[in-house]
Amino acid sequence: MTETITNWAGNITYTAKELQRPYSIDAISALVAGSTRVRVLGSGHSFNEIAEPGPEGVLLSIADLPPVIDVDRAARTVRVSGGVRYAELARAVYAHGLALPNMASLPHISVAGSVATGTHGSGIGNGTLATSVREVELVTADGSVVTIGRGDRRFGGAVTSLGALGVVTALTLDLEPSFDVEQHVFTELPLDGLDLAAFETVMSSAYSVSLFTDWGAPGFRQVWLKRRTDQPMPDFPWAVPATEKLHPVPGMPAVNCTEQFGVPGPWHERLPHFRAEFTPSSGAELQSEYLLAREHAVAALRAIDGIRGTVAPVLQTCEVRLVAADEQWLSPAHGRDTVALHFTWIEDTAAVLPVVRRLEEALAAFEPRPHWGKVFAAPAQVVRGRYPRLAGFRALARELDPEGKFANVFVRDILGA
Ligand SMILES: Cc1cc2nc3c(=O)[nH]c(=O)nc-3n(C[C@H](O)[C@H](O)[C@H](O)COP(=O)(O)OP(=O)(O)OC[C@H]3O[C@@H](n4cnc5c(N)ncnc54)[C@H](O)[C@@H]3O)c2cc1C
Repeated sequence: MTETITNWAGNITYTAKELQRPYSIDAISALVAGSTRVRVLGSGHSFNEIAEPGPEGVLLSIADLPPVIDVDRAARTVRVSGGVRYAELARAVYAHGLALPNMASLPHISVAGSVATGTHGSGIGNGTLATSVREVELVTADGSVVTIGRGDRRFGGAVTSLGALGVVTALTLDLEPSFDVEQHVFTELPLDGLDLAAFETVMSSAYSVSLFTDWGAPGFRQVWLKRRTDQPMPDFPWAVPATEKLHPVPGMPAVNCTEQFGVPGPWHERLPHFRAEFTPSSGAELQSEYLLAREHAVAALRAIDGIRGTVAPVLQTCEVRLVAADEQWLSPAHGRDTVALHFTWIEDTAAVLPVVRRLEEALAAFEPRPHWGKVFAAPAQVVRGRYPRLAGFRALARELDPEGKFANVFVRDILGA
């Protein structure tokens, strides 16, 4: 490739022979049909080689496809191009008096790329972003356009697909009536004495709840409650109300964070942690995340506390969220109500990787599933064993892509094929 293309964090430089930016579905079909190896690049916010096609492959961006955001008010759905970012989608949906049920911490990520990796926000009743998807349209290996909707036998593999089934050109998502949210931030929630029942009470005290810590001490530095204004105000005796606006990374200015202090605002300006108007072009960080059955939450937090002297020196912040179980075969929340343990590390891969390995050892007994888009060290065969429907996905990938055109090293390892 003549230009150097990296992911957002800059820790991955794609080795693909070319970057193609087709501007029509026909051009995508022709390109895919005529290529032997293709991977799609979304907004590049993943931290590992999931999007890398390899030196003989084509990296395909659909960012130049004319963006479509068609809201059907009566049906409460939206059909959106895969390359559109959540910030843009959310603004359009809100203008119609409607809402997405949840958002991730950053609104700048593409819709197709996010749902492909099982991206999620928080909330005891909220599934991953993929659970809103009712239909996907994709250009498959022979260049044909295939639509897979709920009710189709292939649907369980079609949304959280790691980009292994084809180029997702458009998705149709469920919407709901718009709602307002207040964000309340608290500080100093101790881990001592927190049992599973108390943890679940804390985490279900608002529509979306996140705990943050730098593991410099046991317990959590911050608790972010995102309360829907159409739901009751929780009594929250567990921690101390913050006296200033806070950033999840201690010491960072809160100016780029969404409004706090309980000021009500539309869902899309409160559910993400970071403001849409603030566009970070690159990030001085790495991320890892492990999703495990919610029943293990407190035991897993204690296991991390046990190695906090190892974790803290390379950690910017750790975030704890809940994700409701879903049925996508490769969803990290497949079949189990989940606690997601997220780590924003410093940007030093050599220093971070040994800590990631140590962390994975500490969490192994809880059978965590690593976030598909973040840094992990667990061998593919271990990860494979954590997905009971993997064989179904492998068969679907073979059916839609018999020659493995969309299967890069990352995907082949995971599928074991
Ligand atoms: C600052 C930051 C905050 C984040 N916050 C969260 C969070 O709150 N929750 C969370 O769960 N994750 C979070 N993530 C992770 C992020 O959501 C995922 O890595 C997600 O995949 C990013 O989407 P993307 O479009 O950038 O995907 P990319 O990194 O570009 O691609 C990811 C995968 O999707 C595939 N793909 C992309 N577009 C298509 C398409 N059109 N058709 C087929 N396949 C496609 C790619 O081939 C690749 O396999 C965060 C990441 C960053 C950098």
